[in-house]
Amino acid sequence: MPTSSFTSASSAVPCPVVESLDAILPEEPLLMMGAGPVPIPAAVAKANAIVINHLGGTMVKVIGQVKSMARYVFQTNSKWVLGVAGPGSAAMEMAISNLAWEGTRVLSIKNGFFSERMAEMGRRVGARVSTLDVADRAVASLEEIAGAIRRERPEIVTVVQGETSNTVWNYHLKEIAALAKAAGALVIVDAVCTLSTMPLEMDAWGIDAVITGGQKGLSSIPGVSLIAFSDAAWERVKGRTAPNAHWCLDASLAENFWHNAGYHYTAPVSGVLALHEALRLVCAETLEKRFARHLKCSLALQDGVAAMGLRLYAPEACRLNSVVGIEVPDGFSPADVCSHISRMHQVEISGSFGLPIVRVGQMGEQCREHNLFRTVHALGRTMVDLGVRVDLPAGVAALERGLSGGK
Ligand SMILES: *Cc1c(COP(=O)(O)O)cnc(C)c1O
Repeated sequence: MPTSSFTSASSAVPCPVVESLDAILPEEPLLMMGAGPVPIPAAVAKANAIVINHLGGTMVKVIGQVKSMARYVFQTNSKWVLGVAGPGSAAMEMAISNLAWEGTRVLSIKNGFFSERMAEMGRRVGARVSTLDVADRAVASLEEIAGAIRRERPEIVTVVQGETSNTVWNYHLKEIAALAKAAGALVIVDAVCTLSTMPLEMDAWGIDAVITGGQKGLSSIPGVSLIAFSDAAWERVKGRTAPNAHWCLDASLAENFWHNAGYHYTAPVSGVLALHEALRLVCAETLEKRFARHLKCSLALQDGVAAMGLRLYAPEACRLNSVVGIEVPDGFSPADVCSHISRMHQVEISGSFGLPIVRVGQMGEQCREHNLFRTVHALGRTMVDLGVRVDLPAGVAALERGLSGGK
């Protein structure tokens, strides 16, 4: 008699012995103060634990509210707001792959690692991408951008609002969009780290596509992202002759789910519910108050770090507030600092793709006073532990002055 496979003595691939999460995760959660993901509010965590049907009345209502709240956060009246299952980079690829194809002229304003990613995605869909390479720790002047637009005659211009990698803020965004628009180009803006941390007005500034992720400014979970297209951008999406090679990212297919209550792929329901709660909290706070909270907290953090005796990486004029870059003292690597602060003080911060800096995020829940005190203290103590001369009390005092509005 043949032996049943169920009773065979051993399977070809043996069942692995693994540790439980309780054994792997630290007893006390680490405070996530790096460049993302960031801590999530309790309401977001609770929503993320729920699974509901991805189709049907409840989901339709949730999606409707997510879109209307996202319109507020993007500051757009455009109908064409959609979500995507995937990281901020999936939303980025959704913008690029729906608007650009073989031969499309794309001008990428390249400030660093993330703005280069948009250029690379353009090349991969066969677009003719030119980059305006901007020096580290600087922004392109409007003259340089106008010149590049004249030279390249782009159909699409891509630009990042906050270049998280080198912590540079493209503060000319509105003027850049105007220059592109005047030349007849569509403008794609990466607002992954900045959305809801600082002003961005999609309609008023004439932006054609804005992308964001969940795990940064919005303080939701990673893995569900948002995109908004202007009417002009949507017309281009609808007018293309060859379909998008990325089936999952095809905006016309995503329209089935995000606008017609139909099926595209099974939506990441838990993550959509989490995003709903994150957006609801933004609306409850209001954008004005949220921007003010981020500004106050980030400036107080920067004052604290500087008063301690450490140097900030980006010059003040173009310094990003959403993620703060701090120079690592001579003789140490970013990894030395990050691993020490994590191991000894249970605070996670980030290095940055080969730059000699560590980065502390100021996005969403990271901008809370108790998190800032713990982070500045942990950073200062890390320096002391490593033998770097810093004035930790002066740093904490400067943080307190910044937060209390005192002098
Ligand atoms: C984090 C980040 C991204 C990438 O987001 P992922 O969710 O990691 O794909 C893109 N652009 C900017 C500006 C970012 O900060």
